[in-house]
Amino acid sequence: MEKLRTVRGVHDLLPEELYIHNKVINTALETSDNFNYSQIEIPIFEFAEVFKKPLGESSDIVTKENYIFKDRSNDELMLRPEGTSGVVRAFLNAGLVHDIPQRFSYYGPMFRYERPQKGRLRQFKQFGVECLGLSSTMADVEVICLGNEFLNKLNVLEKINLKINTLGDFESRNNFRNALVNYFEDYRSSLSKESLNRLSINPLRILDSKDEEDQKVIKNAPNIMEYLNVDSRIRFQNICKGLDHLNIEYTIDKNLVRGLDYYCHTAFEFTTNELGSQGTVLAGGRYDGLSKILGGLDVPGVGWAAGIERLALLVDTEIVNKTDVVLIGQAENFNYLLLPIMKKLVQQGIKTEIIYSGNLSKKFKRANKIKASYAIILGEEEVDKKLLKFKDLTSGREEFIDLKQIIKKIKN
Ligand code: ATP
Ligand code: MG
Repeated sequence: MEKLRTVRGVHDLLPEELYIHNKVINTALETSDNFNYSQIEIPIFEFAEVFKKPLGESSDIVTKENYIFKDRSNDELMLRPEGTSGVVRAFLNAGLVHDIPQRFSYYGPMFRYERPQKGRLRQFKQFGVECLGLSSTMADVEVICLGNEFLNKLNVLEKINLKINTLGDFESRNNFRNALVNYFEDYRSSLSKESLNRLSINPLRILDSKDEEDQKVIKNAPNIMEYLNVDSRIRFQNICKGLDHLNIEYTIDKNLVRGLDYYCHTAFEFTTNELGSQGTVLAGGRYDGLSKILGGLDVPGVGWAAGIERLALLVDTEIVNKTDVVLIGQAENFNYLLLPIMKKLVQQGIKTEIIYSGNLSKKFKRANKIKASYAIILGEEEVDKKLLKFKDLTSGREEFIDLKQIIKKIKN
């Protein structure tokens, strides 16, 4: 029979890769917990409108990247492509609107029908944080600081740059949008098909284009900074001031826009040059309109999401998977006597494996392979002496002692 394959862009995670993923996730959980963000879990699939409305009918995620399906009750559902919409929906459903601010973290699989490549999958994991209920720019600075600290703890900060921009408020963005349309109209013949398409539905997204010809046109496009009203300008200055106070380095990238429709004001990305065009490892911004779009009160929010797979490609980790002790019977009939010993060792938090089969030399080969520190050997002689043979596999030293003493030695 032919081997059953996994779906394109969807991978198994074997222990070594998962070890690194977990390291990234645990570092993120620890950091966000220190910043007083509490972990929540939201469903992996939801009614499609939870994503369609906020992300925008013209966004890539909704038009071509979604996994949408009808279930047996004919409800239209979507596998979650991102976390923010679900978190804000959960916040609204739980009636937390009157108990703000709320600080949340989450992680888990997301699904997007994309062209798979290194760092771009169809099922991938994100870790994210959301700060809800604070309109102060302090919150923007706080979440950026959290992201920066997380990357710092992962020891990848030297490979990463922070880019920031602002999209302004509705008024500023509208003025900017008109200026952009005017500008790009003059270059219609040079724009890619995709950008032409965006010109009428979401011209800001043209700035996001990776097409080389588009890039030439984008170079001289209007600058958002010149279209900000006073309030939006001050907000942006405050963000920069906050980052300066934290000694966090950043560059202002006037063409940084976020792919999703619900963003306003602050936009930021932590990027690396080491992953080709999949260089964005952590990205976010402010989304003050989202809560209202989801049918709730007007609740401001700011947050980010990080790609676990991309970060896992950046971190340098030694995979530590050592076995503390192996249990070896001189013959198979001793295996039963090893079972209660295993139970006692495991109850002491000692990592144990019984090596059931093979001759002694094979058993020691296995012990070596799983990097065991010690071996407990049980045979006729040990049963007679009512002791165990305890062998330090590094020094080769052996002694006859009882289990209590063994546990003491291993724990030292
Ligand atoms: P990109 O520009 O790379 O497509 P994006 O703007 O679509 O990213 P976001 O929606 O902001 O990404 O998601 C936040 C982070 O999640 C990204 O910066 C990236 O690290 C990760 N990510 C997004 N899409 C994928 C994917 N298909 N596979 C793996 N990681 C992803
Ligand atoms: Mg994308």
